[in-house]
Amino acid sequence: MQLTDLGISALQEKLRSKEISSVELTRAYLERIAATDESINAFISVCEEEALADATRADKDLAAGNAAALTGIPVALKDIFLTEGLRTTCASKILDNFVAPYDGTAVAKLKESGAVIIGKLNMDEFAMGSSNENSAAGTVKNPWDLTKVPGGSSGGSAAAVAARQAVATLGTDTGGSIRQPASYCGVVGLKPTYGRVSRYGVIAYASSLDQVGPVARNVTDCATMLGAIAGHDPLDSTSIDRPVPDYTAGLDGDLKGVRIGLPKEYFIDGLDADVKEATEKAITTYKELGGEIVEVSLPHTDYAVACYYLVATAEASSNLARYDGIRYGVRVDNGDGLIELYRQTRAAGFGDEVKRRIMLGTYALSSGYYDAYYLKAQKVRTLIRQDFLDAFEKVDTLLTPVAPTPAFGLGEKVDDPLTMYLSDIFTIPVNLAGTCGLSLPCGMSQQGLPIGMQLIGKPFAEEQILKVAHAYEQATDWHTKQAAI
Ligand code: GLN
Repeated sequence: MQLTDLGISALQEKLRSKEISSVELTRAYLERIAATDESINAFISVCEEEALADATRADKDLAAGNAAALTGIPVALKDIFLTEGLRTTCASKILDNFVAPYDGTAVAKLKESGAVIIGKLNMDEFAMGSSNENSAAGTVKNPWDLTKVPGGSSGGSAAAVAARQAVATLGTDTGGSIRQPASYCGVVGLKPTYGRVSRYGVIAYASSLDQVGPVARNVTDCATMLGAIAGHDPLDSTSIDRPVPDYTAGLDGDLKGVRIGLPKEYFIDGLDADVKEATEKAITTYKELGGEIVEVSLPHTDYAVACYYLVATAEASSNLARYDGIRYGVRVDNGDGLIELYRQTRAAGFGDEVKRRIMLGTYALSSGYYDAYYLKAQKVRTLIRQDFLDAFEKVDTLLTPVAPTPAFGLGEKVDDPLTMYLSDIFTIPVNLAGTCGLSLPCGMSQQGLPIGMQLIGKPFAEEQILKVAHAYEQATDWHTKQAAI
């Protein structure tokens, strides 16, 4: 067993008993990144000096008995989080030279909890994608099979945890970007309820859907990370002022009488056979654990992907208007006047998928089409949210697959955006409804690729889905399987 094999709780013990130091642990991670990242490409930047300085500080705190929840633990961040003094690119050429003047709230909170930030992680450009192939920093490879995608857009965040290059990471999830890569990489990922975690200092994609969340090796670590970043923030008006429970304290306990709903629209014909089998076995395990399985219906599921691609692109087209070559990042100026400067900067700075989404979103918002597309999508969104609220009258938690297939091949879907968009069919409705969802490993495909299941909770019921996930984890050993990298 190596140091880089251990999760947060095991490390906390070793750090507090002085069996290891944070500097030693941080070095082990930096070495692991150096040895593996040439093949995985999960990191856009590694901040060795800053990490070792943080680790030295953590060791002093540990020596003084001032340990907080993450003191001395090396973590990494999706390159969408603003970090003071460290480059933040959002995997886009347009922000290639951007260094933020402040830390985003989630980053500041991790630091307050004593975490050591070791680097910034690769992603799809501006978080638009499901495979991490839309990155100006190059594709990320799945640590389980280097010919497969890690999922996206937080592909780096999931691959880094699976490859033991960081103890845990942060990602963002607008339509599945934490849960889908977590399932493709065999790790645990949680999208909290909209409003649970501040997005201040997180580069905006689709503001009514974006949410920050953790990726970790197991449910307990995920709970610890969530506890560190959750809470109200006066700097994000959408963050909700309600108490943050101790997420690790509520993990134990049996599932007797817990009602687990299976939405019938999620168990469709196109589901991959291995995914179907793994999910069915998980359902059996839950029955054995005392869960009560109930079939439910989310009747508007069919419209979710179309609805999402109107709402998300409309918001993106407006959020991305700020990248004009004047205020941020890269500028292309051939001396042809201001309008040409905007045009040339945006033409050179954005990748194809980002341009496609800006065009779609601008179209959906333009006068004459607004009512037919954007307004209609907002109405459909309300129906989708209502589906979930109705289902939660009958059950406590929903159980579904995370994605219709395990990780697909690199390059397999790049020329077919629609098929790519469909890989988020089971995760997108959760963002539209604004509630919380978690992905955890529940099997392996014939080809040896991880499969994840999704647990969806009521708004602000993160504690509940973490508990339901933890019970499964205690009863099975999927979370202990490691990619052989
Ligand atoms: N794959 C989806 C998209 O491309 C979701 C991305 C995300 O959650 N950031 O929009």
